Amino acid sequence: MNSTSSETPAAPIPLSRKPPGQGRTHAPSVGKTACIRTFGCQMNVHDSDRMRRMIQDAGYAEVQRYEDADLVILNTCYVRENAVDRVKGHLGELNRLRREGRVKKVALTGCIGAADESRTLQETYNIDLVLGTHNTYELAEFVGLPTMRETYTPELPGTEGEHSAFVTIMTGCNYKCSYCIVPTVRGRMICRPLDGVVAEVEHLVAGGTKYVTLLGQTVDAWRHEGKRFCDLLEAVSEVAPRVWFTTSHPSNMEDRTLRAIGERDTIVKRLHLPVQSGSDRMLKVMHRGYKAERYRRKIGVFREAAPDGTLSTDIIVGHPGETEEDHEQTLKLVEDCEFDSAYIFKFSPRRGTEAADLPGVVSDAVVQRRFLEVLREIEQNAFKRNQRKVGGVEEIFVRHGATESGKAIGETWSGHAVHVDTAAPPGSYVRATIESAGPHVLYASHMN
Ligand code: SAM
Ligand code: SF4
Repeated sequence: MNSTSSETPAAPIPLSRKPPGQGRTHAPSVGKTACIRTFGCQMNVHDSDRMRRMIQDAGYAEVQRYEDADLVILNTCYVRENAVDRVKGHLGELNRLRREGRVKKVALTGCIGAADESRTLQETYNIDLVLGTHNTYELAEFVGLPTMRETYTPELPGTEGEHSAFVTIMTGCNYKCSYCIVPTVRGRMICRPLDGVVAEVEHLVAGGTKYVTLLGQTVDAWRHEGKRFCDLLEAVSEVAPRVWFTTSHPSNMEDRTLRAIGERDTIVKRLHLPVQSGSDRMLKVMHRGYKAERYRRKIGVFREAAPDGTLSTDIIVGHPGETEEDHEQTLKLVEDCEFDSAYIFKFSPRRGTEAADLPGVVSDAVVQRRFLEVLREIEQNAFKRNQRKVGGVEEIFVRHGATESGKAIGETWSGHAVHVDTAAPPGSYVRATIESAGPHVLYASHMN
């Protein structure tokens, strides 16, 4: 997970789990075929998993190339402008393939589908079906399945039978961060009942799932019938062999949850807690609802509870009004918190958000410099922290089996990404010695 980039998904995808169905590429001539392309965060990866099951139930074989597909589904992200530009590029290419008679139908789903801009895109690119994140289930009818009636998306079946699975515990977001389009495209928070989540996890575990990631835009804001997120996490940790959660909001993060990460064996010792800025002034402009000191205190609790754990964050550079002094405070917070990784985003104005109309636009050159300064600080810290792991023996969960190079990709209990020399299949555990470390990944060899 130790990646640091401005181009990475909105929240870290745990070692980019291969979606089910990938690799099961079918010949285009056999029956109907569909290709799903996913852009963005884990929520979108998970929504794609659900759509994948619908198309499979409808008799479509999944293919990986547009030119082999009768139906192409673009499941999209709207968080930053460059995400939209990328999708436009794909839509242009799909129009060309459609003119050549190769692709028959195109569906646009996800966050762009929920945005007003989707109407213009539908007309410009002749898109056959546009669905938002709230009505993804309507794809069922489009592909010839009986109409699904649903109150909200999380009750759609998740991934089954894989060694790792996402489980959505809530959708939407009740915050109104100045820069963020998510509340507009994903709506207000809706939490699933605890029993339903636990039953789904039990079902997944019975089917072979070994690693469960609880998903939501602000998972720690989850509450239902008097229960809070920590109650849900503890209940899941009783039935799942390994559980992680993302993404969290500092205002909702309880000390109790941070301590549970350290105490409970089945919870991965890894916390993703987006801070966005180290400046109280900017945090206020962003409407984040906490000050830098409160964030630091929470990190103190986490470090004490899980000294070996990994900590990651999201940071926005160049939000309108950000001064050199604000930036310095972000650098100071990064130094103090010693993050293991971070997703650093250059501010991207989103139409309909408050920040898009704020004065004090920061020039591209300044944004670029600040981005590099934060990146350098994060990487130096991460490198230093990773060096401390060298020589240790770790139990590693294998996520992806060995490639031709003989290296499998796994994760330690502290949440470090590891390249490990082993032929063990995905879903197994191996013990390995950490031999070296870079800023993003550890390198280990299997001990038997
Ligand atoms: N709900 C999570 C939270 O509040 O921390 C994050 C969800 S958001 C989809 C993921 C990240 O994208 C945010 O933490 C923020 O850093 C970044 N982001 C959102 N809107 C942005 C924008 N307009 N420009 C740049 N980065 C943005
Ligand atoms: Fe967006 Fe803020 Fe909600 Fe996160 S908490 S999804 S950044 S509005």
